[in-house]
Amino acid sequence: MLRRNFIASAAAIAMTRPGFAATTDDSFEVTRTEAEWRAMLTDTEFAVMREEETERAFTSPLNDETRPGVFHCKGCDQALYDASTKFKSGTGWPSFYDNLPGAIGTKEDRKLLFYVRTECHCSRCGSHLGHIFDDGPEPTGKRHCLNGVSLTFTPEMA
Ligand SMILES: [Zn+2]
Repeated sequence: MLRRNFIASAAAIAMTRPGFAATTDDSFEVTRTEAEWRAMLTDTEFAVMREEETERAFTSPLNDETRPGVFHCKGCDQALYDASTKFKSGTGWPSFYDNLPGAIGTKEDRKLLFYVRTECHCSRCGSHLGHIFDDGPEPTGKRHCLNGVSLTFTPEMA
């Protein structure tokens, strides 16, 4: 019985651990404990922003957002992307060809064994945003494929 419990806990730890890689980095200006993040985020937001999960395609209302304005980080409200760099990618995720200067950090994501992707996150609080691909439009040729749940949108004042 004891042994069975031990094995079950070990398995649980092994399963949840890789996702917490980003959250243990305390080099960010804004840091929160896991409990603090869980208190301020929904389960889906926590899974995406703190465990690098990906929201289901075509689920974000921000896909269809076309007004001028600025997209902010849901984790710390830092301004990340100007709406003028948003484009219709057809992927089902909000897509941008460039971020605001200094707003994001990147790292290699080797979760897919056969393919290294560029992960991007908020430079201020480390919250996962999405991935950057090389098939975007000019002038950068980049496609920042983001999770809408990581973002809030502030329309420009008329
Ligand atoms: Zn942030």
